[in-house]
Amino acid sequence: MSQFKHKVVVGLEIHVQLCTKTKIFCGCALSFGEPANSRVCPVCLGMPGVLPVMNKQAVKYAVLVALALNCQVAEFTKWDRKSYYYPDLPKNYQISQYDLPIGVNGFIGIPSDSGETKKIRILRVHLEEDAGKNVHTAGNFSQVDLNRAGTPLLEIVTEPDMTSAAEVRELAVQLQRIVRYLGVSEADMQKGHMRFEPNINLTVTKNDTEYKTPIVEVKNLNSFRALERSVDYEIARQLDEFIETGRTLEMGTKSTRGWDDANELTVLQREKEEAPDYRYFPDPDLVPVKLTRQWLDDIKSRLCELPLTKQMRYVREYELSDYDAGVLTAERSTAEFFEKAVKVGSDPKRVCNLVTQDYQKLANEKGCSVADLGVSPEKVAQLATMITEAIVSATASSTIAAVSVVDLNRTPEEIAKEHNLIQKSDVSELETIVDQALAENPEAVEDVTSGGKKSNKARGFLLGQVMQKTKGQANPKVVSEILARKLG
Ligand code: ZN
Ligand code: MN
Repeated sequence: MSQFKHKVVVGLEIHVQLCTKTKIFCGCALSFGEPANSRVCPVCLGMPGVLPVMNKQAVKYAVLVALALNCQVAEFTKWDRKSYYYPDLPKNYQISQYDLPIGVNGFIGIPSDSGETKKIRILRVHLEEDAGKNVHTAGNFSQVDLNRAGTPLLEIVTEPDMTSAAEVRELAVQLQRIVRYLGVSEADMQKGHMRFEPNINLTVTKNDTEYKTPIVEVKNLNSFRALERSVDYEIARQLDEFIETGRTLEMGTKSTRGWDDANELTVLQREKEEAPDYRYFPDPDLVPVKLTRQWLDDIKSRLCELPLTKQMRYVREYELSDYDAGVLTAERSTAEFFEKAVKVGSDPKRVCNLVTQDYQKLANEKGCSVADLGVSPEKVAQLATMITEAIVSATASSTIAAVSVVDLNRTPEEIAKEHNLIQKSDVSELETIVDQALAENPEAVEDVTSGGKKSNKARGFLLGQVMQKTKGQANPKVVSEILARKLG
């Protein structure tokens, strides 16, 4: 296999479910896990003679994402019918956008090995409605649940700019973070809020000639893992197939494949010679949308610093590791919480440790975000400063953190006092205790002062004695200094 050099070419189509209160063309509530066909009305059931009404919030969300993805936003946009003859969308067409999508020609940044961001071009961003769901669990027949029909979806299509499965995954991760930051989607994979369809092929070099393998589209992936694995699987499969058959893109078949998660392989679904004819035409029931300046300015004001930009800034500005910065910026509210605490004047790395470890653990236990724990960033900053100044040990801080989210009114200092967690750093007080320890252990003192092999071990032993006498509350750094001064 390895005698063939190959390059990987992947483009991605993503459907993101928007978190509007109601469906895109009717007043039915968007809610997950309801009894089948309980969230439907004549409009989303596709009854004859009913009229759709555009959900303004869905358009605003779509424009916001298009702006965040650096797209040119259409000032004039319209809605088109895409012929779709399946039972899960009973009106026999899907309302989508064809030639005037909400956004075109954008890009999204993903991290790359060089430390710079790599730009993946965005071809288009458009709004459309979701279909219902066919259910095949009832024996010899199928059922249709139309609760999902009419859910607003944002379809985002990238150019084929990704060159590995890892990059494809990274794009999906960044996009999930962006739509969450913007508050336009919960982007919950388990609920199918993001669905991915990668287009994959290879450029193989054989005897100095380049060949392109036929393009494969893998349908309907709903986890980062399935997305990454399926692309990796396709890369290996296409290379094998090319070596075996020599089949190239020019020979004309584009196929769609499904992902078999249990067996971790793609399965052929359809081979088609040409693009299907969807017979798009403008929907006569919906008026086109004109974006006014004021509308656009209002939406623009909701843009925020994007997660990857924030992550890179944290590395630069706060000298955090890329890993720490990535954990902090995964959720917007956590990142903002962190920055508020740092602005109080605490050491960023200390605050980061408290937020991403102690407080994140408490948040996970409660099933909420750090910002929703109820403890203020100011108190977390105080706790961080107490650790820096050795008023409490790093170990004691976990106890203080745990109490601080239960007892929201008390300061970390009050909690530390109450739980006897303040470290003793008073030199004269500790000196008395050190003197006692030295008097009680003449052999160890002898071992230290003689400077022999046992010296270090004896020093550690004496430190341990002082810690024991203070029930672990002595500041070990101060004790070591006193010991060094007394024993040389
Ligand atoms: Zn409805
Ligand atoms: Mn679509």
